[in-house]
Amino acid sequence: MSVRVRFAPSPTGYLHVGGLRTALYNYLFARHNNGKVILRIEDTDRTRLVENAADNLIQSMKWAGIEFDESPVLGGDYGPYVQSERFGLYKKYADELIDKGLAYYAFDTGEELTAMREKQQAEKKDPKYDRDTMRNQFTLGEEETKKLIDSETKYVVRLKVPMENIKFHDLIRGDVTVNGKDIDDQVLLKSDGFPTYHLANVVDDHLMKISHVIRGEEWLPSTPKHVILYQAFGWDIPEFAHLPLLLNSKKQKLSKRHGSVAVEDFKNQGYLKDAFVNFIALLGWNPTADRDIYTMDELISLFNIEKVNKGGAIFDLNKLKWFNEQYLRTIFTEKELVPILKDTLADKGKDNYSDSYLEEVIKLFKERVSFIQDIPDFAPYMFAEIEEYEEKYFNKHWKETSADLLRPLMERFRAMQKFDHEAAHTLTKQYLEENEIGFKPVIHPLRLMITGKSVGAGMFETMEVLGKDECIRRMETFLEKHG
Ligand code: GLU
Repeated sequence: MSVRVRFAPSPTGYLHVGGLRTALYNYLFARHNNGKVILRIEDTDRTRLVENAADNLIQSMKWAGIEFDESPVLGGDYGPYVQSERFGLYKKYADELIDKGLAYYAFDTGEELTAMREKQQAEKKDPKYDRDTMRNQFTLGEEETKKLIDSETKYVVRLKVPMENIKFHDLIRGDVTVNGKDIDDQVLLKSDGFPTYHLANVVDDHLMKISHVIRGEEWLPSTPKHVILYQAFGWDIPEFAHLPLLLNSKKQKLSKRHGSVAVEDFKNQGYLKDAFVNFIALLGWNPTADRDIYTMDELISLFNIEKVNKGGAIFDLNKLKWFNEQYLRTIFTEKELVPILKDTLADKGKDNYSDSYLEEVIKLFKERVSFIQDIPDFAPYMFAEIEEYEEKYFNKHWKETSADLLRPLMERFRAMQKFDHEAAHTLTKQYLEENEIGFKPVIHPLRLMITGKSVGAGMFETMEVLGKDECIRRMETFLEKHG
């Protein structure tokens, strides 16, 4: 059997990180098994339509490096891949089930259904369509039903759920059994003639020859209904795998009420794509116990759906940040990171830095920031005049004697031929030894004069990147004011 999987989002306006995890696992599974991965947009709920939402989903997945084999954009042999473009084909399947006696017409109004639910609530019963008392094909009889349909009375088509055990196998959860009496007679076709998620999803998975349905745990209660549908149509049932829920650090379901959940937000916050995808891939699965960093190719070759955990996966923002730091410190080269810093600076109206300068700057600071985008704020003195000297640092380290200590050192720097961090360090050490002074009375004032800040990268390394002339200029400017 050839592997065909699908990611079937409903367009809500953004790609939820949980959606990305589902898409990614489908992608990894397909690639691991030389199968195909399909993108299908499920927009049957016309009340929740968001304009351009599919574009946004596709953009976010593209950013994450998930490539589809068939999609609304790419097309394919089983299109269209947007359900609203397939509306015409679902009714005949609903009709087929009615003919087989496995689905039925129901004519209840909204008020009647509300009254039914309220009664059930008062009687402490689970809310469920009551086939025996409501206005449907069974209670009204065939003749009356036909009359109502002919007179164009509004109706829905409901699934006649059999009162028996429904069994299916889940690749992650094992065998699942649900009693039919606990399942609602689901609406398959709405009164406006549109299919519900359940009908459209099953019909499309069948027509698109989907072999494995890999989706979030929140869809597990729908699966018995789908199994009933496959059996009613006499179709092969795909394999199912329900992925664990994503939880926040308080173990609550991850929701936008508690912070960012849209992939786009993380992209805009400056996360490196590879770090983000690596983090997402490990939400519910650990390829090997010995490490956390994997390339996409490694994820593909190691992917095993049966090794995915059942329990909820914590979406830990600290861990995500850690991934970003790892990627920018050890996976990417400085050269690869230059474009990010360049864009950040361009946004601040600064675009006069050479790639080689930015590369040096990244080398200096990548151990000290979580995001490349943070460098201009962390070390503004690399891109502008010092506007302010940190007051506390100044008061603590700029003493009456400081100017007399720093001025001769400045002159020694000025006389240097080759100005790199080693030479500047050696020279400073010699100067201190000759004058029998400790390191501190000099190094802090030096940092103050050249960066204005108490925290930064290695002092002599920073000086090397700024260059001799700039360092001397900064020392002179400072000494003019405070010398
Ligand atoms: N349209 C559903 C969603 O929004 C698809 C669920 C499924 O994969 O069957 O996630």
